[in-house]
Order: sequence, then C-alpha cells, then structure tokens
Amino acid sequence: MAYQITLIPGDGIGPEVSGAARRILDATGIAFEWDVQDAGMTALEKHGDVLPDAVIASIRSNGLALKGPLTTPIGGGFRSVNVALRHALELYANLRPARTFTGVQSTFQDIDLIVVRENMEDLYAGIEFESGTEPAHEIIGHINRLSARPVSESSAISIKTITPENSRRIVRFAFDYAARNGRKLVTAVHKANIMKFTDGLFLKVAQEVAQEFPSIEFNDRIVDNMCMQLMQKPDLYDVLVMPNLYGDILSDLTAGMVGGLGVAPSANIGERGAVFEAIHGSAPSHAGKNEADPTAMVLSGVMMLRHLNETQAADAVEHAVAEVIAEGDRVTYDLRADRDRSKAATTTEMTDAIIAKLHR
Ligand code: NAD
Repeated sequence: MAYQITLIPGDGIGPEVSGAARRILDATGIAFEWDVQDAGMTALEKHGDVLPDAVIASIRSNGLALKGPLTTPIGGGFRSVNVALRHALELYANLRPARTFTGVQSTFQDIDLIVVRENMEDLYAGIEFESGTEPAHEIIGHINRLSARPVSESSAISIKTITPENSRRIVRFAFDYAARNGRKLVTAVHKANIMKFTDGLFLKVAQEVAQEFPSIEFNDRIVDNMCMQLMQKPDLYDVLVMPNLYGDILSDLTAGMVGGLGVAPSANIGERGAVFEAIHGSAPSHAGKNEADPTAMVLSGVMMLRHLNETQAADAVEHAVAEVIAEGDRVTYDLRADRDRSKAATTTEMTDAIIAKLHR
C-alpha cells in the first residue's frame, strides 16, 4: 500500500527543492501517492487565500505532509502561513536536528545536536497589544493594579504564556525521542532565574518528567549560558528542549554550526499529523534558476521516512546525500568550497547524483 502524503510545493525555490525531494523519495522504491496542494503566494493567486481549507483537510486526512517554503506576503494583514498551519493542526513539537556533513563549510566539526522546540505558546504565540491603543491601556491598567512594578503607559505589550500541560507534552516528546533514538542526555533550556513563573514552571515540569525516564540523563541550562556552551563545548550536549522563542533562536544557531540553512531540515509533529519542511524560506532571488540547494528539503524527507519507520530507506538517502556532499563536485554553489557558480551543479544535477548513489 502506498503512503498518502500531502505535498505542498511552496513558493520561490519551493517547487524546485520539493520536486527534488519527491524524486529522491520515489527513487527509494517505497510507494508514495502525492496529494499536491497549494499554499502561500501560489494559493493566494489561484484561490485568494494563503492557506485554503483544502490544505488543512488534506493533511488531516493523510496525517503527513512534505512542505516547500512559503512566502508570507508583507503587509495586507496576512497571517504567517507557517504559524497558522502549526496551530490549525496542533503540531506542537518542532524537531530540528543539526548534524555535520563532511564537506560542508563550517567552523564546527562533528556536531550532532537535536533541538526540540515547543510550537504552540510562549511569546511566539503572537498575543500582542500595540503601544498607545485602548487594549494596551486596558492591559497596562490591570497590570499596574496587580503588580508592584509599574508598567509605562506608552508600552507595547507581548504576552508570554507557559502552561504545565504544553510543557509536559514537549518535554515528554524530547525524552521519548531520546529513548527511541539511543540518545543519552536531555537538556532543558530556560531563563527561570529571571522569569520565575513562566520559565520556572517549564523547568519544574521538565524536572518532573525527567523522573519518568531514569535511563536518560537530564540537566538544564539558562539560555544565555547555553548559547556560550554551544560555542565552546557543543560535544557535551545531545537533545535540547525549550520553549518556543528560545527554540526559534537556538535552532538557527545550531543550523549555523553545521553550515547554515541550506542543509537544515525540520519536522513539526502533533498527535494526529506531521509536516516536514526545510528551515529555509522561499529565497525568491534564486527561484526558477535551477540553482537552489535541495539538501535541507531532502533531509526533511529523510525525517519523514524515519517517522514512517522506513529506517533502511532513510539511511540510504542520508548516506547518498552525505557522499555527494563529501565528494563535492556535484553540489550546488552554496556547498562548494570555492563558491564558484560556473562549476556548480544545478539543483537537478545534484538530485540526479543523489539518485545515482541510491541506485548503485
Ligand atoms: P530565506 O531562507 O528564503 O533566504 C535567505 C538566504 O538564504 C537566501 O538569500 C539564500 O541566499 C539562502 N538560501 C536559503 N535557502 C537556500 C537554498 N535552498 N539554496 C541556496 N540558498 C538558499 O529567508 P528570507 O529571505 O528571510 O525569506 C524569504 C521568504 O521566505 C519570506 O517570505 C519568508 O516569510 C519566507 N520564509 C518561509 C519559511 C517557511 O516556509 N518555513 C521559513 C523562513 C522564511
């Protein structure tokens, strides 16, 4: 039986890189039926909506999606399609592995870190009140009645919410992931020394959940110290779990440690569905030129194979990608040591090289 997968080609370089991932996944010999759906600018032009209901319905029904990057139109009151999608499907866990591939230019070597980011709450949930507006004044009035520390009347307000339920769910996800993937250590990242009630709650729940997994080591780090530690001794860390905003920032840091956006995959996972996507955006300046790096999208496909327990195929694709990158002569310009565009492979040529390795 073929796996039914929603495929969102995406905007900008999206169709090229998701097309590459589709070709490579099909080349594994596993049967996929791709339910192609438009979102983002493509959907806005065709259907007048950046996130048509049909997209959500398709992912709900298939339970799995491979998604190209989407352009969020600036202005016009458009919501971020990515955030809307995560909320609509309650994809509460954002999983971002950062692993060194030999041949990718990077300051760090031998990095193998997993960032698990809570996706639903924290400052990132977007509950905000604009400076000088009536709702902001009302909130400030409440705060000044309740809090010993007054808030200036001219303040803009962002609300940070952390719940025990969502904290428990994400920390359990991190420990489950560690247990299933032979990982030894989970580190909770927070700022509980300053945000005692929100991050303090996250940390307390993390410590409780750690008791449920005695075979996995647990520790915690304050987020600023975590950043410094990652620069100085990244080998001491393994799986990192944290609230939404720290996860947003730290996962770009770890992506930078392994060579940047071109090689950084991710998964958004919920109880009833999962969406696999590259971390990078639609890079409009590269669109339609057959020059975008397909690696991040292909590695997102590898994460989907692992999610489906198709471990052999996942290993085969990952090895094929690693070999092509290590050989270095059939890679896109961003992966070339000399950055020489005249000698770089096109997206199609790099994809062909990966498929050739699979067929060996
Ligand atoms: P971006 O990731 O699209 O591009 C930043 C730079 O990174 C590009 O100029 C390019 O040089 C490089 N780059 C990224 N991916 C590459 C690839 N596969 N191959 C080669 N080079 C690559 O970020 P941006 O310019 O800030 O955003 C462009 C659009 O993408 C925006 O509309 C933004 O909202 C959207 N976006 C979407 C997602 C998503 O769908 N998950 C994520 C981030 C940004």
